[in-house]
Amino acid sequence: MAYTIQDIATITRAHATIACDATIEHLLIDSRKIVFPTTSLFFAISGPRRDGHQFIKEVYERGVRNFVVNKAFNGNAYPGANFLEVPDVVAALQDLAAHHRSQFNIPVIGITGSNGKTIVKEWLNQLLQKDFSIVRSPRSYNSQLGVPLSVWQMNAHHTLGIFEAGISTTGEMKHLAQVIQPTTGVLTNIGDAHSEGFESEHAKAVEKALLFANAATVVFGKESLHRFLSPEAADKALFPNTKHFFSWSREQDADLKILSEVKHEGQTIITAECNGNDTTITVPFTDRISIDNAITCWCVLLQLNYPEAIIRDRMQMLEPVEMRMQLKKAINNSYLLNDSYSNDLSSLDLAIDYLQQQAGKEKTTLILSDILQSGQYEEALYRDIAAQLAVRGIRRLIGIGPAISQHRELFTGIEALQTSFYHSTNDFLQHAGTQQFKDEYILLKGARIFEFERISAWLEQKVHQTVMEINLSAMIHNLKEYQKHLNPATRLMAMVKAFSYGSGSAEVARVLQFHKVEYLAVAYADEGVELRKAGISLPVMVMNADSATFDTLVTYGLEPEIYSFPIYHAFDQYLKQQGIQQFPVHIKFNTGMNRLGFEVAEARALGMAIRKDHTMAVKTVFSHLVASEDAMHDGFTEQQALLFNEACKDMEASLGYSFTRHIANSAAIFRWPQFQYDMVRLGIGLYGVDSADGNGLSLQTVATLKSTIAQLRNIKAGDTVGYGRKGVVLRNSTIATVRIGYADGFGRAFGNGKGCMYVKGTLAPVIGNVCMDMTMIDVTGIADVKEGDEVEIFGKHLPVWEVAKRAGTISYEIMTGISQRVKRVYTEE
Ligand SMILES: *Cc1c(COP(=O)(O)O)cnc(C)c1O
Repeated sequence: MAYTIQDIATITRAHATIACDATIEHLLIDSRKIVFPTTSLFFAISGPRRDGHQFIKEVYERGVRNFVVNKAFNGNAYPGANFLEVPDVVAALQDLAAHHRSQFNIPVIGITGSNGKTIVKEWLNQLLQKDFSIVRSPRSYNSQLGVPLSVWQMNAHHTLGIFEAGISTTGEMKHLAQVIQPTTGVLTNIGDAHSEGFESEHAKAVEKALLFANAATVVFGKESLHRFLSPEAADKALFPNTKHFFSWSREQDADLKILSEVKHEGQTIITAECNGNDTTITVPFTDRISIDNAITCWCVLLQLNYPEAIIRDRMQMLEPVEMRMQLKKAINNSYLLNDSYSNDLSSLDLAIDYLQQQAGKEKTTLILSDILQSGQYEEALYRDIAAQLAVRGIRRLIGIGPAISQHRELFTGIEALQTSFYHSTNDFLQHAGTQQFKDEYILLKGARIFEFERISAWLEQKVHQTVMEINLSAMIHNLKEYQKHLNPATRLMAMVKAFSYGSGSAEVARVLQFHKVEYLAVAYADEGVELRKAGISLPVMVMNADSATFDTLVTYGLEPEIYSFPIYHAFDQYLKQQGIQQFPVHIKFNTGMNRLGFEVAEARALGMAIRKDHTMAVKTVFSHLVASEDAMHDGFTEQQALLFNEACKDMEASLGYSFTRHIANSAAIFRWPQFQYDMVRLGIGLYGVDSADGNGLSLQTVATLKSTIAQLRNIKAGDTVGYGRKGVVLRNSTIATVRIGYADGFGRAFGNGKGCMYVKGTLAPVIGNVCMDMTMIDVTGIADVKEGDEVEIFGKHLPVWEVAKRAGTISYEIMTGISQRVKRVYTEE
């Protein structure tokens, strides 16, 4: 469904400056995601740090001609462009989506709650897709922007909508309610997530209920709601227009009263009473969260009057929802991105975004199965996909399945796209050699029945069962958390030295570049070269440059730190020989660390030399705080800043121009906002570790080191474990051998009870000495441990700083000490 720009001006009550006719099919809120410029409408949305109006020029240059802006904007510089001026750009986006929603008279399920929204949405889709042509929120698009974009996908084929709504503060839900206009409301549960934005748990529950103000039917779990609202309030005041409630409960009377839950071999048999009859389903999960979500879906089916037999069949077939896209190292220096999340056009679009963000300039390959989607004619569907691929710069398409193979001509004509087609996954695995995959990024996108996990296993490097999982979404969360505390003009340099504190250079740098960090810093030139080879174009500071690496620095456009006159003169001479002028450099002053750096007293002489020699241009001047995290040394920190001010003043006076100044590391950003200057250097905080404990930031865990149990054995009291007979057991014990040792970075300091690992919800101590490739832990009494089970060495359950403390060291050393043979796996939520 398309709207003319005039229609949209009317719907959004905009003051319109229209230069030409236009038909709008796509709504765009991110300048990096332009696919169809001429039919896109760009919303210049202002966030806390970035103003969408800054991107209008870039977006215009890439062919977009339609813009929604706020009143302050002057559009004269853009010939042929249409501007809709509104007071609030986000509200205009929501109004447009709300109008679009009103054009459809189909049932719409709106889902909200603190947890489980996405799972319930995906499961309802799995349960109902045989009977409806469903439009639903992609992934967890449930925000003030995500909801309108989701609803915008509705078209005339659809017979059911399923959308989720998430809020973080009071006042947000009424907007989402207008956009979704649910006919049925589903409340998953109300927990403690995202409580900060609300006065009380009660206020949060009341706000969530606003989604259902006009829903005829509401499905909810009594326990979760009644923790916060009284039954009377729940029914009357909060749901004024609801005619029908459908509740479930384990403890109270309810439409679906749960009587028993029996767990058996990975399944749970749930028996409940409904309308006076007992009824039973079996679900392929045993954890409480999955069971609660499954019961919520069960209620929706009951409320839709599905027959018992169908409910039973379909509930048993529920499949886990893989919420994350995983980037893994694969054969021949390739990377594999496996997105089995869902298989439709809009999720393909998102997956390609992520692929390209990761791949940068590297080659990209899409391995795509038939898309099993009702409601769109096959030919039109593949024509749409071909149109997407044509503008996305994907280099190669491997289509697997009879339908995509049948429509191969739609793809073969696309310039610069190599194609090949196979009738089945077996056919592909038998005939495609692994050698054709090299130095590239491969996106796997397959419907479940195509079993792409077999392709994934085939392409993956299976080397060592210990992996370090890097959660890139958590890293971005942490970045934003620090950005919140920056003065508006302060820029950010991300420290990606030492393989990004062990997290992987190129992969991390790529994400940071995408999120518009201004500078990167590494310790050595080689680390910078690796970034350049991976296509990173951000400026990179090299902190430890020496004369052997000058050539490399210049060749790869890396900017050295100059910390002494000897290094200054050496680099100056080199640049003169090469005939290079004004090469960007960074000047480091020693203000108390006594490591590298000019003395403050040398500032004047240095400035004059640089001004006279003309070979270098000072980009930034900086120093390093030695104890910014520690209140005991606050006096010293202030002293350092005073010295730094003096150095900057003298440099600027003698140099004759100004430069960017920076001194703050992670801990100082928050503890010393007055020392943020023009830029800050964010290191360990990015990786989720707060070196000044409890300083009020909510950081997320980025790195999780995991391994598996290779063998379990029972031994008798008095037996010993490992080298040197150091691990003596005093009782009959169960010992697990884990596939990680000191060669992986799990040091001998953890031996003999010092260290522990997290197994099945319990901390199991290390027993005996740590070996080179293996470690034994005592798992006596831990229920259900099996060979092959996963073991967490550090991560969410066992924070890296606690692990570090046990070995008498700090998080930095543990993180950077994890050896390169441990495979890094990247995830994004
Ligand atoms: C490593 C480093 C940082 C970052 O320190 P964190 O404590 O990890 O934030 C900042 N500046 C310099 C010069 C560094 O070497």
